[in-house]
Amino acid sequence: MTPPFERVALIGLGLIAGSISLSARRLANPPRFSGFARRAETRDTARRIGLIDRVDDSLAEAVADADLVILCVPVGSMADVAEAMRPHLKPGTIVSDVGSVKADVSGAVAPQLPPGGVLVPAHPLAGTEHSGPESGFATLYDGRFCVLTPVPGTPPEAVARLRQFWEELGATVEEMEPEHHDLVLAVTSHAPHLIAYTMVGVADDLRRVTNSEVIKYSAAGFRDFTRIAASDPTMWRDVFLNNKEATLEILGRFTEELFALQRAIRVGDGDLLFDYFTRTRAIRRGILEAGQDVDAPDFGRTVARNAGLKS
Ligand code: NAP
Repeated sequence: MTPPFERVALIGLGLIAGSISLSARRLANPPRFSGFARRAETRDTARRIGLIDRVDDSLAEAVADADLVILCVPVGSMADVAEAMRPHLKPGTIVSDVGSVKADVSGAVAPQLPPGGVLVPAHPLAGTEHSGPESGFATLYDGRFCVLTPVPGTPPEAVARLRQFWEELGATVEEMEPEHHDLVLAVTSHAPHLIAYTMVGVADDLRRVTNSEVIKYSAAGFRDFTRIAASDPTMWRDVFLNNKEATLEILGRFTEELFALQRAIRVGDGDLLFDYFTRTRAIRRGILEAGQDVDAPDFGRTVARNAGLKS
């Protein structure tokens, strides 16, 4: 099959961009990757580790010969980056992104494209709590979903080429409306991250009272929250500011359920708690059956154990 793109520019050289390039190296006929990041230090690191074929010192050079440009920067910076690259895109270049929020961001990026420019937004549902050019790895997208959110009127040929690009990186591609994507992600990712940030914040307050016992006796539940709460602050600030409505909707529902469980504990309603936990356990089984996790939720414990740490 003909490769969907010959030259791809990655703007932002962190976890997601680095994993795209490393993953593509496994292909018989990979595209050539150019790229740019804001700080010279990041560009130097990307050059030193050979992350992509060509690291440029300007956005203009990075996008000049690309058939596909992928914005891999925090969602709050995407519109500005699109505006800055606009005069330097060659006609026919397809623009995409990997942002964790789709409706607001696509709405802000699309007007920045040159006349006739094509935007095909995408979101690979894969990541870790690590960031930066050294955090990428080749298998990040294997077996994971990548959601495309094209608006009506987007040329189907452009969508098909981006679909092929992500499938070749190992992802299973789905299409969704941007608003629906944002609601689904508010439930599956954005609200859980906010809850993890909150729980770790509460424990941190408590730690001051309990002389680090929270860290010392940190048990699985709390440790798992700390892993999520270690995610990049810029990325997550931008996610919440750009997916405001859906996140607030889900947090409203979460608060109601929390109050119901709080009440069940207070009045000793064990049946309610048991039934609730039975239902949530079935959801975990569904995730395992869908191949979206393995039944060994060790969250780094194996590594910790191998390093001689208690896990
Ligand atoms: P990352 O590792 O922190 O990398 C972000 C990159 O963007 C850095 O190279 C940074 O450059 C660059 N950057 C920031 N502002 C810029 C600007 N104005 N101009 C040019 N470069 C700029 O982040 P990431 O995890 O790869 O996330 C990138 C995108 O993927 C975000 O939109 C995020 O929502 C989305 N995403 C993330 C995950 C995840 O789990 N991490 C999963 C799916 C999608 P400097 O180092 O020079 O500042």
